[in-house]
Amino acid sequence: MEVDHTALRQRPVDCKWHRTRLHLLAIDVSGPKPRWSPVFFDSKKGFCVKPCYFCSMNTFDPAAYVRDIEAAARAGGWTLRHLSPCASSTRPWLQRTARTGDKAPSFYLSTGIHGDEISGPLALLELLRLPDFFRDFNTVIFPILNPDGLARGTRENTAGIDLNRDYRDPRSAEIAGHIEILKTLGRFDAAMMLHEDFEGVGAYLYELNEERPVTGREIITAMGRHVPIDLRPEIEDFPAHGGVILRRDIVHKVGPIAERKEWPEAIYLSLHHTDISYTTETPKPFPLAQRIQAQIAAVETLLNAVSQKKT
Ligand SMILES: [Zn+2]
Repeated sequence: MEVDHTALRQRPVDCKWHRTRLHLLAIDVSGPKPRWSPVFFDSKKGFCVKPCYFCSMNTFDPAAYVRDIEAAARAGGWTLRHLSPCASSTRPWLQRTARTGDKAPSFYLSTGIHGDEISGPLALLELLRLPDFFRDFNTVIFPILNPDGLARGTRENTAGIDLNRDYRDPRSAEIAGHIEILKTLGRFDAAMMLHEDFEGVGAYLYELNEERPVTGREIITAMGRHVPIDLRPEIEDFPAHGGVILRRDIVHKVGPIAERKEWPEAIYLSLHHTDISYTTETPKPFPLAQRIQAQIAAVETLLNAVSQKKT
């Protein structure tokens, strides 16, 4: 992120994490529209070191979130069960059969594995409150895999483990418990995981889909109605195509996905549960309301593609 230091204005922000008031807001002039963005100002060095992703302007209360999710799930006739609990809240997961019966397509959705990424969990809550949104799918949802991270606003759990790298040989109770349930769930026609990038300049996604990779373009286009699309030719060290990072480019760069030392959730799912998965990334420097709408648009576009057998 480029920061115009001449436009730097002191505006203290309460940061629970850093327990300091040395945080400033600066104008980011790298995008088409200048915008306010949190940065971390190092008073010894005398300049901003990087966007401070601990200083989210938005706080997240996992226990309150779980209450809202469970209320929406009960109202919508979902079967409500729980993974092993965490200190900050329980971890509900939801299952519902399609109105059209068992032969309907099956869909997997998860959010809240990285505690500093809240647009996914909040988008999911909005979707659950729409009674018909998932009605044509046999759906399984894991809304909050990392409550302790969400309570602290950190990517990792309290032991410092990145849960989305813990699916190969789990060290965390959170992911060991998740895998135990996954083993009982069979296969899905498609899966989606909602993430955010704390220094993202626009939305992008990872597409693990050999059959019809065009769906990724449709999803990113839908997200682009709410936040800019990240159009850089390379994102997170992978070649990207209009905000879409393809499986073949990942394999070309780092080898077969099963051989990677650390497995994110998407790799585990693609090895055991689905041929088609998408990981969305919304850009955290943009307003939360827009990021939530971008996530909702992504889920909706994938479900449309699945129901039309276009995936
Ligand atoms: Zn993430």
